[in-house]
Amino acid sequence: MAYRWETPASVWLEDEASAQFELASSAGLSRIDWQVQARGRLPDVAHLLGASLPSACRCAPIYPEGFAFCPTCGRALARLDEQRKNRPDWWGPWSDQFLPRHVPHGLAVTSLPLGDSLEERPPAPHVGRAELSMPAPPNAHCVFAAGAFGFPVQRLIALAHTRNVLQYFDPLAGLWHVMAAEEYAADLAFTASEYAWLPVQNPRRGEVAIVPTATGLCRLVINPVSETYRTEAIFDATLASAPGAMRRHVACLFNTSGGTRLWSALADLSGAVLYDCAAPAGGYTRPIGYDGRLYWLHAEGQLIWQPGAPPRWLPWPQGWSPRLSFGGPTQSRDGRLWLAGHAAQSYSFIELGKDNPQFEAISGARLG
Ligand SMILES: [Zn+2]
Repeated sequence: MAYRWETPASVWLEDEASAQFELASSAGLSRIDWQVQARGRLPDVAHLLGASLPSACRCAPIYPEGFAFCPTCGRALARLDEQRKNRPDWWGPWSDQFLPRHVPHGLAVTSLPLGDSLEERPPAPHVGRAELSMPAPPNAHCVFAAGAFGFPVQRLIALAHTRNVLQYFDPLAGLWHVMAAEEYAADLAFTASEYAWLPVQNPRRGEVAIVPTATGLCRLVINPVSETYRTEAIFDATLASAPGAMRRHVACLFNTSGGTRLWSALADLSGAVLYDCAAPAGGYTRPIGYDGRLYWLHAEGQLIWQPGAPPRWLPWPQGWSPRLSFGGPTQSRDGRLWLAGHAAQSYSFIELGKDNPQFEAISGARLG
């Protein structure tokens, strides 16, 4: 026999004999598998849900959200439902949030110092500041995201995107957990191009990102209590590139029997539009956003898309090859973007996004 407690977000069952609480369901979460006690995850789950923890008694290890006193002995509990802090999410240097509009978005190195100098914000923390160390996730080659994902507190997750392994960090235990795929979840491996996932603005509970998969674009939703995840299909296709976002639009390249095409939609995923683009079937960099346009760079050329217009594929000039491992294009003082590469024996910069691009030779550096 169990008593049923309903809080605004969750349903808890209290065992009549032991007076222990078990989470039965919680808003937005899939089926709850209550093994958190056995796995030592009660403190983490309490913080995630904003539940209460004992402070002066040992009657139960966890209490429902909003409980201020232990119902068994009346001693005070530690409430965790009022400690919400609004920290910005972190998705890696290529996805710095709140960058000013006149800074390229999506570069492999952070653009924040550039944004600081443009907006005269306080300087970023200096090199040499003491840091805490934490264990690396067990499966390597990850993309990381630290976000609230609709919960009261932030958590760090790591997706090993070549291996289809999603990993969750329990900061209170200091341990990584591999999340299990729920039934019908898509394979999260994506290797056709460089990986990128799109953060969701104002996520529902558990909602993480729009992710590229082998079967198309999906919405990734996690259940950190049961350590599982599920996917919801957005666009079924064989993807050629990672998705990119430009203001109110998202877009992604995909392959059909008739060639490569571009799928685009509004940020709420309505109003999908498809375009033809005579471009390669894979091997693109993570898209870069700048000046109202998205750029997918490739060893053979650049694909440029401006929302509302057809995409353009521009092959690199004859004899010139890009160096895509140099950290992305560089912005010049006049606002143009330049990509480093080489022709014959010397390095040069090419102006991005132009039919007849300007070249600037780089003196000094030699091909090695
Ligand atoms: Zn008590």
